[in-house]
Amino acid sequence: MGRQIVIALGGNALGATPEEQQKAVIAAGNHIVDLVKDGASIVIVHGNGPQVGAINLAFELGCKVDRKLPAMPFAECSAMSQGYIGYHLQNALQNIFVQNGMENHVSTAITQTIVDRRDPAFQNPTKPVGPFYTKEEADAIAAERGYTFVEDSGRGYRRVVPSPEPVDIKEKGTIRCLIENGDVVIACGGGGIPVIRENGLMHGIDAVIDKDKGAATLAEVIDADDFIVLTAVPAIAINFGKPDQKWLGEITISEAEQYIKEGHFAPGSMLPKVEAAIRFVRAKKGHRAIITSLENAYDAVTHGKGTIIVADP
Ligand code: ADP
Ligand code: MG
Repeated sequence: MGRQIVIALGGNALGATPEEQQKAVIAAGNHIVDLVKDGASIVIVHGNGPQVGAINLAFELGCKVDRKLPAMPFAECSAMSQGYIGYHLQNALQNIFVQNGMENHVSTAITQTIVDRRDPAFQNPTKPVGPFYTKEEADAIAAERGYTFVEDSGRGYRRVVPSPEPVDIKEKGTIRCLIENGDVVIACGGGGIPVIRENGLMHGIDAVIDKDKGAATLAEVIDADDFIVLTAVPAIAINFGKPDQKWLGEITISEAEQYIKEGHFAPGSMLPKVEAAIRFVRAKKGHRAIITSLENAYDAVTHGKGTIIVADP
């Protein structure tokens, strides 16, 4: 087959605890191994919401009980989550390859995603991270560290960070080398560690990048053939969850944009996937983006299952 495929792997492929995650990634790997057997080059971009949240929370709470523990910046927490999840995926896939008599290698690339410091998202942080605080606690932390807090639906105060658009992937050259070496590559985890460029130098910032948008950017800059989003549903639907729900097969960018206007996709879940798919197909005319479930991964690539987003004719 020889296709280069970037796969965005959803939270349902990972589970909540280290034990759960270790089992879940084996199941995920078993759905991907047939594509590798067919000769496809695979890059996996995993989500990290619950994991980076747990790492961040552990440090926040740790600081409260022991002032010797440093506050851990969010970019560092993202990097830790890439290592932790990358290790599990790497280990699971290596073992699956051994069990299948395959000689493929697997590597994880700690990945920085470049964002634009002028992105309007920096003026309007929206993404809640970390624990809930009282107003007094939040004010004290804000004064000490310059964090922004918002009141979250009567449950207390929570830190918010910006969610800027990904612009480029710093390690794209390295990732291409690993692919050429025949590796299955785990990269851009959680959308990538957000960095801005100042006078040519890269700095990590407190922000989160949408995983699906980071994955689409990676697919674009490494010139992938297909961009596939694997999540908990077999396809995207209009009228999702209503009696007249309809799963979608092949749709064009214009049709997808019309459905976005009509409000069919939830902003925190399906909307960024559809936007990411549109971004990839628009940048790579003639290529397709697919949104489907983990179970359908192979059939989606080989037999057109799931929702396929294509350029307008
Ligand atoms: P992931 O961890 O894979 O990013 P999300 O929960 O963020 O998963 O997004 C996938 C979810 O989006 C689906 O499981 C589904 O519940 C929800 N969803 C919202 N709108 C739609 C829609 N129009 N069609 C299909 N799924 C939708
Ligand atoms: Mg999601």
